[in-house]
Amino acid sequence: MLMVIANKITTLLSSTIRDSITNGKTIRVQITNEATRFAQTRYSFQPFILRFSASQVTAKQTAKELINYIKNNVNFELDIVGCRESKVKCAANEIDILLFVKNSKSFAFLLDELNWPQSIDGQQYTFPSKPSIPSQLSIVVKNVSLRINIASFTDDLKNAYPSAENVIRLKNKNQTDIKLLKVEFKSVEERNTVLERRKIMVNYISYDVEQYLGQAKVLICTKCQGIGPFKRQCQQVNETCKVCGVSCHDIKQHQCSFVPKCIHCGSSHNSNDPKCPVVKSFRASLTRKLLSLPPTSSYSTDCPADFPRLASAQFASIRNTTTNLILLKLDVINKCVNKLNDNIEILARKTEQFEKFMADKIESDIQFDKRIQAL
Ligand SMILES: [Zn+2]
Ligand SMILES: [Zn+2]
Ligand SMILES: [Zn+2]
Repeated sequence: MLMVIANKITTLLSSTIRDSITNGKTIRVQITNEATRFAQTRYSFQPFILRFSASQVTAKQTAKELINYIKNNVNFELDIVGCRESKVKCAANEIDILLFVKNSKSFAFLLDELNWPQSIDGQQYTFPSKPSIPSQLSIVVKNVSLRINIASFTDDLKNAYPSAENVIRLKNKNQTDIKLLKVEFKSVEERNTVLERRKIMVNYISYDVEQYLGQAKVLICTKCQGIGPFKRQCQQVNETCKVCGVSCHDIKQHQCSFVPKCIHCGSSHNSNDPKCPVVKSFRASLTRKLLSLPPTSSYSTDCPADFPRLASAQFASIRNTTTNLILLKLDVINKCVNKLNDNIEILARKTEQFEKFMADKIESDIQFDKRIQAL
């Protein structure tokens, strides 16, 4: 089963994508597995920021104390991948400690303030700001009418999924509302449950859902300026100057003209410029590709620990609930149709009466005319 999924993904990813670009040329870009993996894993989590009033606090010690506290008191293995101190935003006697987590489980865990200790290493602290909920905890709800009331949608959604935190209407590049909603969850499990079902029921309407992916990040090789491969996988012998596009054996010896010429589109910008139409079109294709991947299979092959599959029994019970909701909705529709039928009958009767009245009227008018002519 896993093999089949893996093969399917490989076929999907190695398929060549054609994209026409602004100057009319048609280019071919290959979405490699590396590019996809890079895009999938580099959605970094915003740090949790703790503000201490004592300036002798260190980031390392704070991280260590927090991990120990959570392990001993809440029995949770907190994964912190980085920490640092910052004094940029705080007063002279204060210090900010930035903690970066490794995965969405740790992120979701820290989102709940109840999981934090009162003090760390004997020091009180505050949260000057909260990190925003990342793509890994978000979903996209598709085809949501622009006329629905977001507040009522949110209320109904929160009844079914208490960890749904924010509902955001997405916009296109012209800042116009589109029929997609982004929903941010505070719980990994609940978010994954929704993705497993691929549908959510809100106000008796069933919507398709997808994993949410922000703009995919595009890799540009620092050696050959090619799109996609990492430098260590680069096949090219020579190095390419990112400014003038000239290929040379030793870039350090290169006498650059400093006249920018992009190796992808030929325009006057650096070859690693994210505004390059070829790079942009690659990014769009990559984002589409990532969105088209079935969420369950991409999780099960890439990061099984982070996105556990649900047991089938749970899935079945969820489906039953959905079926029940559908039946309920059908019942409501049936009642509405019956009411509509009654109304149509009343209208039809009234129309008949009106038609009879008109016929009588025409007849009486004719009689009236005849009588006038007879006079
Ligand atoms: Zn390269
Ligand atoms: Zn150059
Ligand atoms: Zn370009």
